[in-house]
Amino acid sequence: MNLAKVRNIGISAHIDSGKTTLSERILFYAGRIHKIEDVRGGGDGATMDHMELEKERGITITSAATSLEWKEHKINLIDTPGHVDFTVEVERSLRVLDGAILVLCAVGGVQSQSMTVDRQMKRYKVPRLAFINKMDRTGSNPFSVVKAVREKLGADAVLYQLPIGKEDNFKGVVDLVEMKAYYNDGEKGETIRVEDIPADLKEQAEEYRHELLEAIAMYDDALMEKMLGDEPISNEDIHKITRKAVIEQAFTPVFMGSAYKNKSVQPLLDAVMRYLPSPTEVSNYGNDPAEEGKKVKLEPDANKPLVAMGFKITDDEYGQLTYTRIYQGKVEKGGSYFNQRTGKKERFSRLVRMHSDKREEIDTASAGDIIAVMGIDCASGDTYCSEPNYISLENIFVAEPVIKMS
Ligand code: GDP
Repeated sequence: MNLAKVRNIGISAHIDSGKTTLSERILFYAGRIHKIEDVRGGGDGATMDHMELEKERGITITSAATSLEWKEHKINLIDTPGHVDFTVEVERSLRVLDGAILVLCAVGGVQSQSMTVDRQMKRYKVPRLAFINKMDRTGSNPFSVVKAVREKLGADAVLYQLPIGKEDNFKGVVDLVEMKAYYNDGEKGETIRVEDIPADLKEQAEEYRHELLEAIAMYDDALMEKMLGDEPISNEDIHKITRKAVIEQAFTPVFMGSAYKNKSVQPLLDAVMRYLPSPTEVSNYGNDPAEEGKKVKLEPDANKPLVAMGFKITDDEYGQLTYTRIYQGKVEKGGSYFNQRTGKKERFSRLVRMHSDKREEIDTASAGDIIAVMGIDCASGDTYCSEPNYISLENIFVAEPVIKMS
């Protein structure tokens, strides 16, 4: 597995901003579900009994982690329970993420829970992108949402897209890096059409592109010099600097669309791939049991001894699943590993990768990956290692960005 092409991400949002709808669309476009039922009728956040909703949401969102592929990248989408303030559960789910999408409503903007989840992500140093959803709604205003992100979340938020059309007439987005217009075609928006920017938006696009460049030039002297010297700036330069600033959590690029109307979700997946870190770009640490307070750096290397954490346990008709993030080394089907809390050796007889609509039995998985182990006896938060008394992840350490600029 090429670790550089793995993204372990979560989606956080204020309730009703469209996190579920967006997750479903992501799975659909990544080919993981083949039919989207418009289960939520009105499409404006109104009326439906909660239980009914849960039922209709069905299998797509019942997994604590789902794997999907996007343009040769593997994305593990981890469910982050975002609606509650600090709990061990939230803490664990944030601990296993390398990056996140913060979903905001184009009308409601930064709402109370947006602030809560953003605070949690800050605490866990999770690099993030913002996605302004519900661009089709009456009263949607991405510019005031960006302003609110700056003021209420204190983030250096910058628009990477502009809307084409407004509210009911929202048609697509201008990509301010490529300076192209992106539209969705097909009943479910399954294909993307790329065109020149509409003439009446050109000036505005130039203006916002300039704002974007000025913002990222703060993080890169070479870019600043190019700008001052009026030299051409490549898309690659912009992507590289944005990625660095996002990973250092200095910067929040802002994207927009309408999950419900199937608009501009694929460009968001491109942004995940371009700007959120791979497991090699964040460092994780564990506790050395031999010396209190000593942190040990974990290496995302399959050839080192195993260090993995069971971050979530679920029980359904198929039995018990322990969702596990592997930080170092690898797990193998039939292998036995030590639970660091109990000291007991446990056999991992079945490993699965969860997809929205099926589970795939696998033989092995290595550092950087997220899988589920079937039928082991452990508690949520337990660490497994190939050696006893090796490393514990019990006291959760915050990940640190590793920036490798070429
Ligand atoms: P969650 O609570 O964040 O998971 O939000 P849901 O995905 O359940 O969405 C809440 C409501 O907003 C549902 O009625 C959705 O149909 C609706 N919704 C989601 N995305 C959009 C959108 O892009 N536009 C509009 N108008 N409604 C949306």
